Amino acid sequence: MRLTYICSSCKKQNYLSQKADDRAILQKQLSSDEIQVNCNSCGKMEKKHLNKIVAVVDNRLVFLGIPLGIIATVILISFFGLIATITFSIPIYVWSYEQKKAHQFNLFRIRK
Ligand SMILES: [Zn+2]
Repeated sequence: MRLTYICSSCKKQNYLSQKADDRAILQKQLSSDEIQVNCNSCGKMEKKHLNKIVAVVDNRLVFLGIPLGIIATVILISFFGLIATITFSIPIYVWSYEQKKAHQFNLFRIRK
């Protein structure tokens, strides 16, 4: 989450460096109902009422989450891949065991 405001002069969205979970915390941090802001686009200095400060999703964290999601997916797939390997290896193991038993049976011939 990032705190933003819209510049009253150029209507561009600016990000605040302050971090707060709600406006009351921000108010306590600033010990004021207003915050002094400086637009990054047009350089306009103004005071914004805290109710004009809007929180938005921090896309940097979202983009950071993408590789983490991919890693988690890869881990999950390889985990379930391992289960699939075990599942398929059991019948193969049983088959090779049966094959060996049958082979041993067929090897031994009684005397006529
Ligand atoms: Zn501006």
